Amino acid sequence: MSTSIEYSLADFAFPDTSDPAQAPPEFTAWLARCQEPLSLMEPRLHGAALPRVDIERAGARRSVINLASYNYLGLNRHPDVLRAAALALQEYGTGACGSPILSGTSDLHALLEERLAEHLGRESCLLFNSGYAGGMGSLAGLLRKGDVAILDARCHLCLIDGARVSGAKLVFFDHNDPVSLERALDAAAGRRRLVVLEGVYSMDGDLADLPSLVPVAEAHDVPIFIDEAHSYLMFGETGGGVVEHFGMQGRIALQFGTFSKALAGIGGFTAGDRETLQYLRLYSRPYGFSCALPPSVVAGVMAALDIATRDGSRRETLWRNTHYFRARAQEAGLDCGESESPVIPIMMGSDRDRLYERCAEMTRRGLFLAPIDYPSVPEDALRYRVAITAAHTPDELDCALDILTDTLL
Ligand code: PMP
Repeated sequence: MSTSIEYSLADFAFPDTSDPAQAPPEFTAWLARCQEPLSLMEPRLHGAALPRVDIERAGARRSVINLASYNYLGLNRHPDVLRAAALALQEYGTGACGSPILSGTSDLHALLEERLAEHLGRESCLLFNSGYAGGMGSLAGLLRKGDVAILDARCHLCLIDGARVSGAKLVFFDHNDPVSLERALDAAAGRRRLVVLEGVYSMDGDLADLPSLVPVAEAHDVPIFIDEAHSYLMFGETGGGVVEHFGMQGRIALQFGTFSKALAGIGGFTAGDRETLQYLRLYSRPYGFSCALPPSVVAGVMAALDIATRDGSRRETLWRNTHYFRARAQEAGLDCGESESPVIPIMMGSDRDRLYERCAEMTRRGLFLAPIDYPSVPEDALRYRVAITAAHTPDELDCALDILTDTLL
């Protein structure tokens, strides 16, 4: 069996075959040849995604320190969250049993929408049944053919896909560059435009430079949509995200977040003006034409939100862990890129075989990290990505750092 990875997923994205219902034969042969490195891509967790977990990779099962799950505030399996979800499960059953427009939602859904809107100081909020569906469905619901979506070049696929589905023209401006944004806005003058940003960029862990970008969009009178998947409840005095961190409340048209990260659930939401969200409710197909979140998930997310907003203690622990880990990693000589958040890349350059081989070795030594390959990141900037959580103990972080430095340096 080969230990070399040979290709990337980009090589099979546009197959030269006649039958779209059949996987390209070269792809299948590649999977068979490269079983060992490719098995790193979808490890199986035996148990909850906590800082220590048993994972199964390439048929072997071992206990590892988990730096790969987005349980940022450590709320996965929190007793209050479990209790709230279990009660709702008993009372409301396993599913919402239909899409919101035809089959309705529940009083729990309405309450969570109110709580989120209230927390962010917005008039209204709309829940989606996944973060991906929410990002995609918000943009696809608001933009139309003839419009121009002006996205930061590092925006997540759900935002790119949403803009594409809408039929709008997509224009990418250079990451965090106000001059490039200005140019894109000028070039699309006279059209309906929307600027699309992320609070924390998910592959690099750096922040949207709102102080530079917001005035540019404002000068053109163009609204901003921001995806705070990796920043809601982690940034800002009250957890209001990067928007609050930079004091930009009231200057961002729509703020989007997911429940799969700091809230350790599933789903997403968009918050903004009442009228805009009422329109989105009726025009976002991933909202209206897909089953609503199970009420038990909504109840669990609501309990997690209560804990995350009651006080800042979990946020403080998350930041203490983040600063500790990043400082020690950098002191040791690891390249953490431009990270300013609990999302910390470990940059590995362009050696793809080494990326996979060292990752397998780290698993053997007891550390769970994902290799991040092209085309998710540039070919010369392959990496691992660390997600620090409030639940990691100092011992776990030290042990993870020892494995990382022993394996990579
Ligand atoms: N937006 C960003 C920036 C993301 O990183 C992700 C996924 N990690 C999503 C949206 C989609 O969220 P979910 O996984 O909850 O569907």
